[in-house]
Amino acid sequence: MFQKVLIANRGEIALRILRACKELGIQTVAVHSTADANAMHVRLADESVCIGPPAAKDSYLNIPSIMAACEITGADAVHPGYGFLSENARFAKILTEHKVTFIGPSSHHIEIMGDKITAKKTAVELGIPVVPGSAGAVETEADAKNTAAEIGYPVLIKATAGGGGRGMKVAQTEADVLVAWSTARSEAKAAFGNDSVYMEKYLGKPRHIEVQVLGDGKGNAVHLGVRDCSLQRRHQKVWEEAGGPTILPEERDKIGEICAAAMRKLKYSGAGTIEFLYENGEFYFIEMNTRLQVEHPVTERITGIDIVYEQIRVASGEKLSMVQKDVQFYGHAIEVRINAEDPQSFAPSPGTITFYHPAGGVGVRVDSAVYQGYKIPPYYDSLIGKLIVYGRTREECLKRLSRAIDEFVVDGIKTTLPLFQRLIKEPDILAGNYDIHWLEKYLAANKV
Ligand code: ADP
Repeated sequence: MFQKVLIANRGEIALRILRACKELGIQTVAVHSTADANAMHVRLADESVCIGPPAAKDSYLNIPSIMAACEITGADAVHPGYGFLSENARFAKILTEHKVTFIGPSSHHIEIMGDKITAKKTAVELGIPVVPGSAGAVETEADAKNTAAEIGYPVLIKATAGGGGRGMKVAQTEADVLVAWSTARSEAKAAFGNDSVYMEKYLGKPRHIEVQVLGDGKGNAVHLGVRDCSLQRRHQKVWEEAGGPTILPEERDKIGEICAAAMRKLKYSGAGTIEFLYENGEFYFIEMNTRLQVEHPVTERITGIDIVYEQIRVASGEKLSMVQKDVQFYGHAIEVRINAEDPQSFAPSPGTITFYHPAGGVGVRVDSAVYQGYKIPPYYDSLIGKLIVYGRTREECLKRLSRAIDEFVVDGIKTTLPLFQRLIKEPDILAGNYDIHWLEKYLAANKV
């Protein structure tokens, strides 16, 4: 097992990883920008190293600084969390070359899943169902027209290097396909420095369903069931459920087993999430994230498995602590993301938290790194906490979530809590009757 883990992240996820390390008896090193000197992950870690100025590119994304921090502290492993360097194959490679373990998959697996066309090809080879679409990049106008005609309208043009929903354009008919294609290309070029795009059938009313997997890198892998993350704003998840309002246990086990089998074939190591759109009983692969995800706690809650423990175990060369038949599912869990944002305009709301009282009680987990008096810096993601609630049934979970949201107080800044107070009263939400477009439509129709 590792002696000392450096956590190359900040905020709630840095704390989440730190907690797992403490329970495993591993020393922790926090790294931080000058803006985060007073952050909770820095206070609670055994050691800390300042790695640069506020801008993420100069600190949390600064590979030489992080390598220097490993060197100074003698850390023998790095946990990257999510975001920042978590899906940077070069970082994983550099660490390995310096004999520091990257707590995550091999740089090869990060690479093949990072490029979306390669990921889709790999998915097909592994027997994972995919959205019908172009075989590879769509490079010319003629190619765009012909491929769209073959797939059938509407079609979606997506950036090969895509992320965060950028570089994505829908074409409803042949009349808009060339405009959509060239706009997607220029957006992709601007956002990712790569104008390569591909094409998919545009699904009208899908749900976003994802499968959590764990592998040991030696050909053993399990799935931990599915999460429904259909409630999204601008392709960003806002509310996630495990237990899944519409996915039956048989369907969960079937898609889960397809994914676990694929990970065994790949000899995948660590945690991963295989994302699907789900429509009319069919699953369509869209991408794989080769890292821990923000919404992992809902899966932990209904399986009792600590996903971060498992990541650390397998990275250190141990086996997974379970086989598939040990994975049991209990009840329902929902996570809502508390962002420091105006709940109407979604404009960021950094500043000092003057009063903080997190929800508590039966079935409630709060993953956050903020505290009363903490000043949220304006430089990073606006996620300040996650409220995760459990119930034996979805109904029980929703009731508990409603009272937990009412109990939660964050003063001094604006947060998305009032949005959840409204959502929890919506008949469609209570009935689990929503697809990936529901929230955007609701927000457009309910402007105050
Ligand atoms: P990114 O990496 O940019 O987030 P994804 O491929 O994960 O891109 O897609 C992000 C979101 O875009 C999905 O969760 C879904 O809401 C929407 N989307 C992606 N592909 C399709 C499709 N073929 N049809 C309809 N919506 C899609």
